[in-house]
Amino acid sequence: MTPNPPPHLTLEQRQAALLKAKISRQERAQVKQAIADGELSVFDALNDPRESIQRMRVVELLSSLPGVGKTRASLIMERRSISPTRRIGGLGQLQLRALGKELAVAKAEPRRGNLVVISGPGGVGKSTITALLRNDPRFWISVSATTREPRAGERDGVDYSFLSTQKFQEMIDSGSFLEWAEFAGNRYGTPRAPVDEWRSLGKHVILEIEIDGARQVREREPGATLIFIAPPSWDELVRRLAGRGTDSPERRAARLALAEQEMAAAGEFDAILVNDQVEGLIDQLVSLATA
Ligand code: ADP
Ligand code: 5GP
Repeated sequence: MTPNPPPHLTLEQRQAALLKAKISRQERAQVKQAIADGELSVFDALNDPRESIQRMRVVELLSSLPGVGKTRASLIMERRSISPTRRIGGLGQLQLRALGKELAVAKAEPRRGNLVVISGPGGVGKSTITALLRNDPRFWISVSATTREPRAGERDGVDYSFLSTQKFQEMIDSGSFLEWAEFAGNRYGTPRAPVDEWRSLGKHVILEIEIDGARQVREREPGATLIFIAPPSWDELVRRLAGRGTDSPERRAARLALAEQEMAAAGEFDAILVNDQVEGLIDQLVSLATA
């Protein structure tokens, strides 16, 4: 296929195009400067109907916000699943609203976010609880790395980063984990860098990890809030583990034996919340996590 020949432009047309490009650059620079100086809100800029602004990349606009910068702007976009090359004019209503939420939090909570650990016996409802906090813009739920096989429906990079034993070992060796532990024959770890990054963005970071990991966090980050989720009763825990139906009977028996040991560690935590009704528990959790 031969490329299209360049359009034949008269001198005047070329000059007009150059002038238009120059004006566009100036308009974009003015808008970015006004945002950096706090004279213009991002929302006004997003609604600026001028072609030069509508064609600007969203990430470029966000980066000009004081204290955000390119890396954080990209993280905000990634969190809301907006393509890094998206231009302002190409943002949908839902994406605009999502960005609004993110920025409102960044503005309201410029201080470093808390580190919150949620632990408790397997089957008590930890994943159910963290899933309910996933869309709350005040929080970021850490994505752990693990050597265990994905369960049906689990997505790599969302539920866990599923790693080979070798890759996991490399991360240990390079000091990339805030904590890691072995649990039921597999390894699990919290990558340190995203935790720091999101906390510096003002998000309260939630780690859903087992007890050994929680102990390591307490040692390395003494300011962290450690919350233990307990079942209403032992029988109910057994029912929930069975009800989930994701493990073989042998594995379930092993998990119950582990759960017994885990229950014994509840006293080491800052707070114990009983997962009877999830809604009430979420309210308590949110107030502890944002305190
Ligand atoms: P964990 O992540 O702690 O291993 P899950 O979140 O997978 O536990 O929950 C185990 C099972 O218990 C799931 O089937 C879940 O739907 C159920 N469950 C969670 N919380 C409650 C609750 N408050 N009441 C009843 N069932 C619950
Ligand atoms: P599951 O295999 O059921 O997803 O998780 C098993 C256990 O590993 C759970 O208690 C869960 O909280 C814990 N876990 C998940 N991610 C991490 C992690 O990054 N570090 C540690 N220490 N435990 C984790």
